[in-house]
Amino acid sequence: MKEIIKDKTHSRYAPSAAHRWMACPGSVTLCESQPKKKSVYAEEGTAAHQLAELCIKNNVHPSYYLNKGILIPDSINKYVVDQDMVDAVEMYVETVLVDQEIDDFCGVEEPFNLSWLHEGMYGSNDFYRFKHETKKLTVYDYKHGKGVIVEAEWNPQLMLYAVGAIKNIADRLKTPLFDSVVEDVEIVIVQPRGLHSDTPVRRWTIKAIDLMFWAVNVARPCAIATDTQKDKFIPGDHCHFCNAKAVCTAIYKRAAEVACVSFEDKTMNFPDVALLNPKDVSKVLQIAPAFSEWIDAVKASALEQLVQGKEVPGYKLVKKRADRKWISEEAVEETVGSQCLGVDLFETKLLSVAKMEKALKEKGFKAATLVGLWEKPDNGFTIAPESDKREQVSPPALAFDVVEADFFAEN
Ligand code: SF4
Repeated sequence: MKEIIKDKTHSRYAPSAAHRWMACPGSVTLCESQPKKKSVYAEEGTAAHQLAELCIKNNVHPSYYLNKGILIPDSINKYVVDQDMVDAVEMYVETVLVDQEIDDFCGVEEPFNLSWLHEGMYGSNDFYRFKHETKKLTVYDYKHGKGVIVEAEWNPQLMLYAVGAIKNIADRLKTPLFDSVVEDVEIVIVQPRGLHSDTPVRRWTIKAIDLMFWAVNVARPCAIATDTQKDKFIPGDHCHFCNAKAVCTAIYKRAAEVACVSFEDKTMNFPDVALLNPKDVSKVLQIAPAFSEWIDAVKASALEQLVQGKEVPGYKLVKKRADRKWISEEAVEETVGSQCLGVDLFETKLLSVAKMEKALKEKGFKAATLVGLWEKPDNGFTIAPESDKREQVSPPALAFDVVEADFFAEN
């Protein structure tokens, strides 16, 4: 019997949180014990998804909704679409709508049911398309966030979305799930505002048979573990979007473990950085993001308590610092402008490279027009984990040695 999906956003094993629950089985139960909070970023992201859905379904450009209020799920307020949102969603809609007329199937925000994989698992796809001729399924996901770059390769959220789409296609064609007509699966993530990535559209392809093998042998055991290993907490990068950060002591304990066990300092004093060996430095760096996430969550929790009138010893509620802003620009123009004080009331500045490219493209010019006019400033060095896609560079000290050696060889 077909299970009815009552609420597509609240599966206990939501694909959108798979990167977390697949890594930390205890997080599912701990998150459920926490009050549901809505951040402005989450609301903005939901509004952007809603805008994208409206544009694709109604076949209109996002600018049609500029300055209009759109209704978003679970909210009584309308969200007013601004230019930034139009610009971001435009890229996603353009990517999705390429050669749409030759699709055999496509789905916009189509719900899927994965209870055959694990009871209670379901979700919905931003967009997918299937072409019989090529036996290829393409699953698209829009990311409105700009802080964390989301990669397409082995992305468990998108992989589960693809499994859901395969199930829906098999149901429609009445073919067996594991003998599906789908042979290749392409995963596409569009993240227009993730500016520190090489490309805002990231793609990855996997064979359908390998995807199904992963679903059964990797995703399913992880989902089972969330039911059977509720006390197992494993901190990592996945803590970033975890609602239970403020109450999860695993992050703190891990940091303490690194500090005490590795450095044999049972006093809990933080060790002198200059005395750390490279191995310990590496351990601290690995735990640092999760630890700072936990501290941020504790700060947020303290603020919440003070706002509710509760006491946090040693702390008080104050107003945030704010810059002054004009109440009415027209009034300023009238008042200051009419007094002939010789002050330029407005300033103009050149468009950024990205905005200029976009403006030229809209006028039918190519980005090549700007070649030689822009450069990427050298902002120095930063550290990155080995998995980071950027190319490793030589330390400047070594580069200097090479120059020195060449200089002495030539002279
Ligand atoms: S904060 Fe991290 S370790 Fe703690 S429950 Fe969430 S995901 Fe697990």
